[in-house]
Amino acid sequence: MSVMIERLAIIGVGLIGGSLARALRDAGAVKTVVGIGRSRANLDEALALGICDEVTQDAVQGVQGAQMVFISVPVCSIPSVVKEIAPALSPGCIVTDGGSVKAAIVESCEALMPKGCFFVGGHPIAGTEHSGAAASFATLYRGKRCILTPTAATATAALELVARMWRLTGAEVCSMEPGHHDRIFAEISHLPHVVAYALVHAVGTADVEGENVLSYTAGGFRDFTRIASSDPAMWRDIAVMNRTALLKSIDGFSSSLAHLRSLIEQSESDGLAEFFTIAKRFRDGIL
Ligand code: NAP
Repeated sequence: MSVMIERLAIIGVGLIGGSLARALRDAGAVKTVVGIGRSRANLDEALALGICDEVTQDAVQGVQGAQMVFISVPVCSIPSVVKEIAPALSPGCIVTDGGSVKAAIVESCEALMPKGCFFVGGHPIAGTEHSGAAASFATLYRGKRCILTPTAATATAALELVARMWRLTGAEVCSMEPGHHDRIFAEISHLPHVVAYALVHAVGTADVEGENVLSYTAGGFRDFTRIASSDPAMWRDIAVMNRTALLKSIDGFSSSLAHLRSLIEQSESDGLAEFFTIAKRFRDGIL
């Protein structure tokens, strides 16, 4: 295919940003990828792995001349990164992101865009528990969804270009309102991560006659808690930024757990069987 983006700047060349660069390279959709980050070690790795053509720790310098800037750093840093680069953006530049929370990011980043530049919020629904450039791979987005979160202020042409970019990675693109996105992902992604961290924390600090109980864990525990191995800084930011929706989800979960606790306390066998059957049906239905 003909090159879609002459110069793409990726701020945060980790799992999400590195995988986007690799996928677009494989699709022949990008000419030059500039990697921007904080640590020299991760940028050197991105260069050595052929993810980027150029790397820099200077975001202002790195975005110069780019038609598209993709930001994939922890969510609380996204608005400050956009504020830093805004004066250096070329006319017509599209800035988009892969952050897991949308309402607060879209609101602040739209307001930070200089005249003639465009912000489009995005969130690829793909990932692993691994971080950094070395964890990225070209097929991460294939067959996965990417949600874009346009608002009344979003330029249609910019939205279409970002959607086209994601389709070239093999992703299926859909759109929704930023707040709606945050309420859905509080339930299906942010709550499960919080629960996994809480579970491992509770089990890791449990005192059973001085035994290291974690040394007895097997497949089931590891399957359930895989996501508690995700980057703590990334999940700290998501919990803080999606606080309102996440607290509502935690409250719903707490009621469910309290109900389950009381069924167990009262040895309500039928109630327990019904509770587990309903949960199994939900789970099997989404497989
Ligand atoms: P990651 O692998 O840790 O990559 C983030 C990269 O950003 C790191 O390589 C880090 O490099 C760099 N970085 C951090 N803060 C920075 C800053 N202020 N300025 C410049 N570079 C900075 O994380 P990720 O999994 O790709 O996640 C990135 C974003 O994607 C997050 O917003 C997350 O919410 C979102 N997301 C993640 C997943 C997932 O499953 N992982 C899925 C969908 C969306 P240095 O170490 O050199 O600082």
